[in-house]
Parts: sequence; structure tokens; C-alpha cells
Amino acid sequence: MTLSTLDARIDLHTHSHCSDGVLAPAALVALAAQRQVQLLALTDHDTAIGCAEALAACQAHGLRFVPGIELSSLWEQREVHVIGLNIDPAHASLQAHCATLLQLRRQRIAAIGERLARAGLPGAELARQALQAPAPTRTHLARLLCAHGLAASAEAGFERWLKQGQPGYVAALWPPLTDAVNRIVDAGGIAVLAHPHRYRLSSGRLRELLAQFKAAGGVGMEVSLPGTAPRDADRLAALARHFDLAGSIGSDFHQPGLPWRPLGRFAKLPDRITPITDRLGL
Ligand code: MN
Ligand code: MN
Ligand code: MN
Repeated sequence: MTLSTLDARIDLHTHSHCSDGVLAPAALVALAAQRQVQLLALTDHDTAIGCAEALAACQAHGLRFVPGIELSSLWEQREVHVIGLNIDPAHASLQAHCATLLQLRRQRIAAIGERLARAGLPGAELARQALQAPAPTRTHLARLLCAHGLAASAEAGFERWLKQGQPGYVAALWPPLTDAVNRIVDAGGIAVLAHPHRYRLSSGRLRELLAQFKAAGGVGMEVSLPGTAPRDADRLAALARHFDLAGSIGSDFHQPGLPWRPLGRFAKLPDRITPITDRLGL
């Protein structure tokens, strides 16, 4: 089977319940198969532990699987996400990096729990439950706020309690962007800058970020995501061409029923962009 990004159904950015998605890796793969996805990457936040289950399920369903991860990092005090594709999930350097990230995640969740407790919420219990997840995230806390009747929805809980400026906010002190790229490269993978248009950077700053990402060894950037405004899509495509970064496409799927992040359904790669599949050797 020849896979060209122009004619195949490809989704290289998805989450399972190993991080803040809701489906088990096998269930995610089953849904992808149902949506006729041909090439799928699992890219959980800061962990690749779901990749073995996803690989087995992809083999059973006849999909091609790309083991992946979405690493949290900081670039000039800003949280930036780096997707690693075709990584060896068992590589020691990457695993050590993930262990550090998961420790930072656990500390952050505990600190948020303390802040919520000071604000009169059952913060210790919320944190205890969120910490059951392999890679606990603020999304877990937001869902728990809803489940405990403390917010009308996970989104409302996030807005009211967890986001920057709210009583439960704790800043994340992720390792630098260059570390994320290096660990992905160590593990035999290729680094792709996730959703560059979501960082709310000016054009000039975004160009600085892309230049530094490329210099650090980054080879691709996401250019096609569902729900990207046409203006942003054109801007991303122009940047990918300018910096000679390959274009990656993915849904950033987390759960069924969120129509703005539908698994395996998104715009095609813009013209004159090197498909990331070329860099993956597919
Ligand atoms: Mn997420
Ligand atoms: Mn992300
Ligand atoms: Mn993501």
C-alpha cells in the first residue's frame, strides 16, 4: 500500500486514556478503523505506554501504526507541544525524560489540589482521583469537577478553577523545547511542532519559534488540523514552506462527541508542502 498524504486517511495526533483522552488505545484504534483511517499515530501527553496496545489493535484491524508521543515543553516561558513520531517507546533516554515529565505532572496536580482546597473545594480528593491516571492532566481535574457536581461541564470547571488567573492555577515548569526535540531524536523519532497557531504568538515570535525548532532538529509542523480557520491554515502552510518543514496532519482527538476534533476527518494537506509521511519513510 502506498500512502500519500494526499489520498490516504491519516491521523497523526490522537490521545487515549493513557493521558487525557477517554478511550482505551484499542477502542481508539477500533474507532479509527471504523472511520477508514489508514495510518494512525497515538500521541499521548508525555507517555508512550499505550503504544503497545495500539500497535496490536492496528495489526488486528489492518491499519498502519506510528508509535508517537506529545511532549510538553517550554519555549521562552510558554508551553509548547512537540509531537514525536516513529519513536521507540522503550528507548531509555526518552523513558527517563517521560519519568521526569510525569513527576512534574504529579507535583502540579497535587499543588493544584492544595490551591483548590484553600478555595473551599475538596481539592485533596480531586487530586487523589486525578492522580490515578498514568499521565494526569488538568483535563482530568476538570472532568472530576463536573463529576462531583462542582461545575456544569468539564469546560466550565476548567474556565472557573483551573486556567491561568483562576484560583487553582499552577504554572507548569516543563523542560526546554530543545530537550523535547533531542529526546525524540534519541529515540529514533522525528519531531513535529504541534498546533503552532494555538500558541497565540505574533507572526514574528512564531517565526522565531519555528526557526529555533528547526535549528534544534525539528523536521515537521502540523499544518492541517480540524477547525483551523482558513486564514490560519494559509499562514501555517506559508511558514512550513518558508522553513522547509514537512507538514503533518492530525485531529488531536481526545473523545467521541466533540465535533471540533473528529478522529480521522480533516482538511487535506495544502499544496507544495512536503508530507510528513515522506520523512517517516512511508
Ligand atoms: Mn490533551
Ligand atoms: Mn497539544
Ligand atoms: Mn494533543
